[in-house]
Amino acid sequence: MNLEDLTQRLRDFAAARDWEPFHTPKNLVMALSGEVGELISLFQWLTPEEAAAWRTDPTMEFNVQDEIADVTLYLVRLADSLGIDLLAAANAKIDRNETRFPPVER
Ligand SMILES: [Mg+2]
Repeated sequence: MNLEDLTQRLRDFAAARDWEPFHTPKNLVMALSGEVGELISLFQWLTPEEAAAWRTDPTMEFNVQDEIADVTLYLVRLADSLGIDLLAAANAKIDRNETRFPPVER
């Protein structure tokens, strides 16, 4: 599956539930922010060592992957609602960052 397939799957999912009226950019960005908060909450009180060892706890591993998925799905849906090509925008940003932050000399 590629990003276009995922975008279409999310469109179909929302359409099948008559959720399109709720999937406005405002609502989607708020939902995205909430999911980022859920992801943050998994790490916020951990020591750096505990956070680095997140995969050693199966429950934590599941929860991190679940919240990463939620963040991804809302981001993809938000970009779709705004008519933004997510991969093109991300690549353009990396292009700009390559100029802003030249690589270190080795
Ligand atoms: Mg969540």
